[in-house]
Amino acid sequence: MSEFDAIFVGAGHNSLACAAHLALKGWKIAVFERSQAIGGAVRTAEYTLPGFRHDFGAMNLSLFAGSAFHRKYANELKSHGLEFAPVADCFASAFPDGKWFGVSNDLAKTAARMAAFSAADAATWRRLVDAFPGEAEHLFRLLGSPMSARALAGTGWNLWRKKGFSGTLDTARLLLSSPRAWLEENFETPHVRTTLAAWGMHLDFAPDIAGGAVFPYLESMANQSFGMVLGKGGADTIIRALAGMVTAAGGQIATGADVAEITVSGGKATGVRLASGETHVARKAVVAGVAPKALQGKLLPNGSGDAGFDAAMKKFRHAPGTMMIHLALDGLPDWSASADLRRFAYVHLAPSLDAMSLVYQQAIAGLLPDQPVLVVGQPTTVDPTRAPEGKHVLWVQVRMLPAEILGDAAGKIAPAHWDAVKDAYAERALDIIGSYAPGLRKKILGRAVFSPLDLERENPNLVGGDQICGSHHLAQNFLFRPARSFARWNTPVANLYLTGAATWPGAGTGAGSGFMLAQQLGGN
Ligand SMILES: Cc1cc2nc3c(=O)[nH]c(=O)nc-3n(C[C@H](O)[C@H](O)[C@H](O)COP(=O)(O)OP(=O)(O)OC[C@H]3O[C@@H](n4cnc5c(N)ncnc54)[C@H](O)[C@@H]3O)c2cc1C
Repeated sequence: MSEFDAIFVGAGHNSLACAAHLALKGWKIAVFERSQAIGGAVRTAEYTLPGFRHDFGAMNLSLFAGSAFHRKYANELKSHGLEFAPVADCFASAFPDGKWFGVSNDLAKTAARMAAFSAADAATWRRLVDAFPGEAEHLFRLLGSPMSARALAGTGWNLWRKKGFSGTLDTARLLLSSPRAWLEENFETPHVRTTLAAWGMHLDFAPDIAGGAVFPYLESMANQSFGMVLGKGGADTIIRALAGMVTAAGGQIATGADVAEITVSGGKATGVRLASGETHVARKAVVAGVAPKALQGKLLPNGSGDAGFDAAMKKFRHAPGTMMIHLALDGLPDWSASADLRRFAYVHLAPSLDAMSLVYQQAIAGLLPDQPVLVVGQPTTVDPTRAPEGKHVLWVQVRMLPAEILGDAAGKIAPAHWDAVKDAYAERALDIIGSYAPGLRKKILGRAVFSPLDLERENPNLVGGDQICGSHHLAQNFLFRPARSFARWNTPVANLYLTGAATWPGAGTGAGSGFMLAQQLGGN
């Protein structure tokens, strides 16, 4: 048995960021990770063939690069090996009619592509980009602040002072709008609307869901204004750097260490018990970077002592799942719409807003979508170090999928456990890519397919393959993430805190929840 100031359950990037900050403040830290590898959804490994490095989950590290944690610790992270690969051609969509549209960091290029569809849309785009710094100040402040009355009042006051009452209402309306409402109000071209709306599908914001407009808005404006970054050599660059900070400051990180229970005495968390039977004491804090459901019946076998909290954790809603297909390729896809698409970090394959809405609805109904939305990541076009010379990797995200299969919208795959159908479903996804990039199959040297349930096996926080660890719809976001009265990483158990994607400010690689909690516990 050892004693620490803080014990972390899981080595996701939020836990590591929190641990690094506290270790630098002099806290004695231990991080226990059940897997053999740290990083959770941010890992990079040779899943197909030697020399081909694939990002298991997160590939886009722009949130980390723009985070408050990175601003404070850029030098330390760099000294522990953090390196980004900047992206100029950020995202694009190819369409069944042979057209394409894409957003590059060069405004003239994006605007020219847009003007080829509509001069009015290109003018709108330039107007939105000009106004973005003024809008971003408030949105990033909101997303980077704790959900406390004081912080919210400060953000609201600053917004009102700078934009007046009408301007404040405009920002509030953007936060409440669905992607479709915002896109249809601003753009007339279906191709442009669809390209931007695909960012809602990275979360669980199909085009008609209130509260989703801000994701296409922020991603497209931020990519236009600042570009995007991937990790040099793999997204795990942030994990290696964070772990380096923790251990250099005296913290310990143990892998293959499944936390079976958070020990509680007199309403206060006192430490952890590992599945191996080892116990460890935490003097000041136990920080659990887990999905809320893991608390009930597992980590807190006797509950938290607050029936309302326990019920909320049990009812915490997960979003539809994801399948990941990793390919080792002989060459980049031959996109028939344009060879220019090979330069983009992401190519989305989603024909229309209605098609995205339908896919979401099918997944919610337990059906395998007949035409899933595909996010095709081409990391080696940006960072060739991830594959042997001249070769490439493809990172394919299949959105959105049911955890339990009740049927197939295409009527071809009989409902069964994911282990039995994942290869057949991956073929459907590859057929779709092949219809936009003929000859893809001939280039495949190796493949690895992770069904939604495989994602959960790798990381139990990805419940049913939910890549964002919990729906981000309005009723479970902001002051309600993960539950009302517990949005500040607190729990009813003294000294027990939650961190990670299930907590405010939600999923992504921004380390926001870990760093804000760290500052709450250990000061700035
Ligand atoms: C397929 C996919 C693609 C994504 N793409 C992007 C992207 O491009 N850009 C982006 O910004 N975000 C992306 N995301 C989201 C982002 O990666 C996650 O929101 C984020 O990494 C979650 O971090 P976290 O700190 O919550 O912990 P997680 O990454 O969820 O890690 C939690 C860790 O805790 C461990 N653990 C859980 N229970 C226990 C236990 N009882 N004992 C010990 N250890 C335990 C798990 O094994 C895991 O290692 C993606 C996610 C996925 C899955």
